[in-house]
Amino acid sequence: MDVGSVVIGQPALGQLKNGRKEALVEPVEIQAKTLIQKSKTPSNDYVINPYTGCVLGCAYCFASFAGRQFGRSVKEWGDYLYVKKNAVELAREELAKMPEHKRRGTMLLSSVTDPYQGHETKYRLTRGILRELKRVEYPGLVRILTKSPVVTRDIDLLTSLPRAEVGITVTTTDDKVSRWLEVRAPLASRRLRTLAELTEAGIPTYAFVGPLLPHFATQPELLDDLFGRLVDAGVSEVFMEHINLKRYIRERMDQVLAGEREDVREAYLQARTKEHRAQLDAIVAELLGRHGLRLRFEEVVHHDDNDVLRQRLASST
Ligand code: SF4
Repeated sequence: MDVGSVVIGQPALGQLKNGRKEALVEPVEIQAKTLIQKSKTPSNDYVINPYTGCVLGCAYCFASFAGRQFGRSVKEWGDYLYVKKNAVELAREELAKMPEHKRRGTMLLSSVTDPYQGHETKYRLTRGILRELKRVEYPGLVRILTKSPVVTRDIDLLTSLPRAEVGITVTTTDDKVSRWLEVRAPLASRRLRTLAELTEAGIPTYAFVGPLLPHFATQPELLDDLFGRLVDAGVSEVFMEHINLKRYIRERMDQVLAGEREDVREAYLQARTKEHRAQLDAIVAELLGRHGLRLRFEEVVHHDDNDVLRQRLASST
């Protein structure tokens, strides 16, 4: 892997590395007690996570200790999935009890799992929850965040909700980088196509460029390319986050970086510094202007704060 070149990552596409098992994750079906959680994140009022765990297994995932309630360690992230089998029934019950004024709140699917990871094609929980939101004509914004093209299956429901938007996470235009860090996620190129498909269907979209990968500091032309492709896909607003390299995340990132060159490891070490963030902030500001993109929250968010993290996790279990 070379953070100083366009092609990052030696493995062939589709080949998993980083010592993770390729075996398919066998989901565990559970009965959840509750579903809709209050969110303390700045732009969401409520959050729904139909699954606990995420088989996409991104190396940088901040949610990697969300499985601790099931005794799962951070290092197991990506290797387990708990399916809230009764999620649709819970959504129906909890929405029925929700007072009218609360239904104006923004509802996020999802914060610590991907609502359209592959198992959704079998369980259809996200689809069922959207149907319940449609049934009550939920007047607040329904916000989706995913890396998966499976979301296009639900275009019919998304277009029939009073207010909905779909965010697709895109951290790179390079599929090799995507495969390196976002181990089992749909490739970056596929996600860009998904954004275009959603735009074509008339659904408001945004792109989540997070984490902002360290090599953009030395190769801003790659971020320039990413922004250009997002605009081509119909995106007008981006939500961006600096990489979060807190200790529990580094536990997993270190596994990924272990086999890489010294300069690559150094780049990720530097990414924890204020100087690095300031350098990237300046690059982002210039490129956003060049592409006419809006930045949600008017800043590249930095979650190097335990309170924020606790709030996020508390809002997602
Ligand atoms: S898709 Fe999202 S929730 Fe799933 S592992 Fe990747 S970053 Fe985490």
